[in-house]
Amino acid sequence: MAIIQVLDHATIDKIAAGEVVERPSSIAKELVENAIDAGAKAITVEIKEGGISFLRVTDNGGGIPKDQVEIAFLRHATSKIRQESDLDFIETLGFRGEALASIAAVSMVEMVTKVAEDLTGTRYLIEGGVPVEKEEIGAPDGTTIIVRNVFYNVPARKKFLKKTQTEGTYILEMMERIALSHAEISFRFIMNNQVKFSTPGNGNLKEVIYRIYGKEFSDNMKEVRFALPTLGMEVYGYIGTPTLNRSNRNYQLFYINQRYIRSNLFSKALEQGYQNYMMQHRFPVCVLYISFTPGHVDVNVHPTKMEVRISNGEAVFNAFADNIATCLKEQEMIPKVILTEEKPKEPERVPKSVIPEIFELHRMGQRKDTAFIGNQPAKKAGGPAEFSYSFEEQENSVSKVFEETDTTGFHRAHSVSENGQVNTIIDEVVQEEEQLSLFEEKIVSEAARKQYQIIGQIFKTYWLVTYQEELLIIDQHAAHEKVKYERFMKQYLTGEIPSQMIAPPVVISLSGSEAELYKEYAAYFEQLGFSLEDFGGNEYAIRSIPMELFGNKPEELFLDILEGLHNDRVGQNPETVCNRIATMACKAAVKGNHVITLQEMEVLLDELMTLDNPYHCPHGRPTIITMSKSELEKKFKRIV
Ligand code: ADP
Ligand code: MG
Repeated sequence: MAIIQVLDHATIDKIAAGEVVERPSSIAKELVENAIDAGAKAITVEIKEGGISFLRVTDNGGGIPKDQVEIAFLRHATSKIRQESDLDFIETLGFRGEALASIAAVSMVEMVTKVAEDLTGTRYLIEGGVPVEKEEIGAPDGTTIIVRNVFYNVPARKKFLKKTQTEGTYILEMMERIALSHAEISFRFIMNNQVKFSTPGNGNLKEVIYRIYGKEFSDNMKEVRFALPTLGMEVYGYIGTPTLNRSNRNYQLFYINQRYIRSNLFSKALEQGYQNYMMQHRFPVCVLYISFTPGHVDVNVHPTKMEVRISNGEAVFNAFADNIATCLKEQEMIPKVILTEEKPKEPERVPKSVIPEIFELHRMGQRKDTAFIGNQPAKKAGGPAEFSYSFEEQENSVSKVFEETDTTGFHRAHSVSENGQVNTIIDEVVQEEEQLSLFEEKIVSEAARKQYQIIGQIFKTYWLVTYQEELLIIDQHAAHEKVKYERFMKQYLTGEIPSQMIAPPVVISLSGSEAELYKEYAAYFEQLGFSLEDFGGNEYAIRSIPMELFGNKPEELFLDILEGLHNDRVGQNPETVCNRIATMACKAAVKGNHVITLQEMEVLLDELMTLDNPYHCPHGRPTIITMSKSELEKKFKRIV
């Protein structure tokens, strides 16, 4: 008979640790969240070997008082809530009091922490959950935690870690997400002695996006802001122009009440907003802060799983999608043709020079008793201990005085005085004049249309048009398809799709699977103005088709649509089915259209200008691209 007994504490801790600490990135996340909760304005994370052998988090937050350091490492010890009723009003990222205990249970932890009121701080070592050492020490305000040898005492878990490179990437991605969620905090991430990114902490989200994702990305992000008071919801952030799409959803970042979450609801709603702008299997990008007033969202479903529960999901979905669509509509989104060969510049993700941290000062001849907090020397540490604490070395070097201004107008000036004091003015942002474009006349508008000069058609496909200093190139098929589609959908939505009788009716015979497919969607075809008569034995007579599509061979049109439905199963949502059928019908309808006359083009352009989104055909391909006069002049070397 097996004997039942209560497990010892070390075993319980290790088991419980498994829930919080899955891999180094979960450790980094917990520690950074603690730093944020502690009110830090600057947070540095440094890792080596994927964070397995070395993971350091340094913050300039509130610190932990001497007599509470050990308590912080006990399971269920927290300063963030006091009683059960506090659970409903959590404003911190942590509150379970489990992270430090769990991390300490499966690694070797060293903490140095100091509160502003005290003259000295505390250094505390705890390994595998067992306290090893505690001493008083000179330290700057704030907390540094170094975690070494993750899972050294749990080999079974260590085996499941991936290559150090992969674990490092997980931490990098986590850091990017967290830096984007707190533009008001300066983050620095160092991996194997290399600064991967740093953010200024000046509250400018666009600049954080630039620092993390580079220039191309930040140049193509547009600000959005809207409030939905009835849903208790506010949205602020940046969404990508449709050309900045990706093949997956990794760049759709949603922060609900400042917490990164993966949200099917918001991803799908975002994509619905982009519906008319995006090709299939491409995904829009965004960095959006969504805040809900209490009661509308439950973020504590599972903090580590990054999920939320939203009440009123459907209303939120629709309102969000509509607002995104409106934001897109307000932007002019014509791709520009750049003829000059510009070498794509590697975005300057990493500032070349960085500010030294407290523990790097020895190497700069720093006097022992001056510590740094941000850019300010801290008050002199007195008491028995001296500031002589040294962390692992970094590769950073700092020149005496240097200044830099990068292409986006960010300005940095640093100077190092004789006694090693560093003064830095980072990122005095020279405001970009992005707002201006809002007041410029749109190229695609009914007003601008009057100034269009149609030059002619080339390659039986493209029309050349000049407008002021721009050459517009219009894809006739895409434009035609778009106009037809919009007309068609408008008729469908008002319930008045005029049909055209076909006399005599065209009889077609379908294969078994085609007939099945037709039966499945028959009602939709009818709604869209097709009428078919069943002759039995998979034979059908096409009696009428939508007037809009008349002029094409009805049987080809119909079979094209069936084929489209076959290749791309659309489900049964009436709206999507009608949309898809209409799209396919329009595509089929303009298929054979080659030469169109100047008059026809004039009419087509007129109509195109009236549409909400004239920039993309229903498949998301552009209808218009532009080339500027100056681009041409550059190419002919008239200007350089
Ligand atoms: P929780 O964050 O859920 O409270 P943790 O185990 O992560 O639990 O941390 C325990 C306690 O230790 C926190 O409540 C906080 O008081 C303190 N603490 C942890 N990290 C820091 C830090 N970087 N700065 C100041 N206090 C901290
Ligand atoms: Mg915590």
